[in-house]
Amino acid sequence: MTGFRALPSVDQLVHALPLLVEAHGRQPVTAAARARLDAAREAIRSGADGAIEAARLPHLLAADLAGQAVTQLRPILNLTGTVLHTNLGRAILADEAIAAASAAMAAPLALEYDLATGGRGQRDDHLRDLLRELTGAEDATIVNNNAAAVLIALNTFGQGRQSIVSRGELIEIGGAFRMPDIMSRAGTQLVEVGTTNRTHPRDYRDALSDQTGLILKVHTSNYRIEGFTAEVAAPQLAPIAHEAGVVLLNDLGAGSLVDLSRWGLRREPTVAEAVAEGADLVTFSGDKLLGGPQAGFIVGRRDLIARINKNPMKRAVRLDKIRIAALEATLRLYRDPARLAQRLPVLRMLSRAQSDIIAQAARLAPQVAALLAPLGYDAAVVDCASQVGSGSLPTDTIPSAGLRLTGAGGDAPDRLAARLRALPRPVIGHIHAGALILDLRCLQEDADLLAALADL
Ligand SMILES: *Cc1c(COP(=O)(O)O)cnc(C)c1O
Repeated sequence: MTGFRALPSVDQLVHALPLLVEAHGRQPVTAAARARLDAAREAIRSGADGAIEAARLPHLLAADLAGQAVTQLRPILNLTGTVLHTNLGRAILADEAIAAASAAMAAPLALEYDLATGGRGQRDDHLRDLLRELTGAEDATIVNNNAAAVLIALNTFGQGRQSIVSRGELIEIGGAFRMPDIMSRAGTQLVEVGTTNRTHPRDYRDALSDQTGLILKVHTSNYRIEGFTAEVAAPQLAPIAHEAGVVLLNDLGAGSLVDLSRWGLRREPTVAEAVAEGADLVTFSGDKLLGGPQAGFIVGRRDLIARINKNPMKRAVRLDKIRIAALEATLRLYRDPARLAQRLPVLRMLSRAQSDIIAQAARLAPQVAALLAPLGYDAAVVDCASQVGSGSLPTDTIPSAGLRLTGAGGDAPDRLAARLRALPRPVIGHIHAGALILDLRCLQEDADLLAALADL
């Protein structure tokens, strides 16, 4: 039985592991060595043998450092069936957008510089003309995300004044984004009108006063009220706002730039329609149905956009060059709607036919079953239902297909889900009716899944 004296010093231990130092750097190896030596001393104090503890150290250190080198942000396979999964980073980008973002990272670019005159330019200029063309709006400004778009618009026109919203539209998007809280942070006083299920034009008219700054209309994208309901649509609301000389702001949320029914999906109001319906300003997200990077757009009247751009908050919520480059490339794809579903991954995934996904599941089932058999699991083809996600088209599911993975024991799906999450390329499914389901709608290549599972 040997004690503490069998342990090396931190320096001796680090010195004895030159390959680890070369791979990870001296500082991380020293920190890991210190932590492991502390743990070894603790073990010896509780009766462990010093020589055995010392012999384990190189192996433990190598594992610690390898673990630290793996990023949580490694690519995963999203087989949850939710195409725009907020917790998994929402939209994946088109090749054109990825190339533009990479180029913007690697070299200087004329972000706020006019190449024609050599004078100063504005970073939003790169997107303004495309947005005007695609939405029919007079002008546009771009911010960090749609939450910021709503915040800065409310602050610009509602600060120290009142903002009118229907009680049926006082939504929570998720996380801490609740419309009443955003309003108070924007410095505007919320005036609620109507009831949860019914709001009428007279409710808005009665609430207008010389204190009113704006009327806010919110597209209730993540829930739907059905039954005995009445809402005041934007075309009815616009004249009410304009007679009173206040701004009508329509927060669309997902904000599609094209009519999705063209690809067999349910119609969502497009941004161009919202503009044509008479809203002074329309806000929407870059990374929901639009299929780009995280961003928030405000499009609408030129004089109002100019006031938003003068708000000092704009500087705090502006976009960086990488995302501006990716957005410009993404928006360009919309100029050719006929090829959009091939080039924009979000639309490509959403518009995939169920028959195509069933065929993929049938191809993969025997191979996946063979990979899982040693773990005691089987795989079979199953029909399932995908969702758009991110609060878009919430009550709609899209017929899909996938693999149903089953094993013995009540906790079999949870145990397998944990194994798949721990893979070098994690595979994320969802548990339904006692099985782990892998919805294949978002699986681009069969080989991606087989390669990921080969590491089991
Ligand atoms: C999603 C959503 C937001 C927030 O947009 P982010 O881009 O996630 O910041 C705001 N309003 C509505 C109606 C939404 O659906």
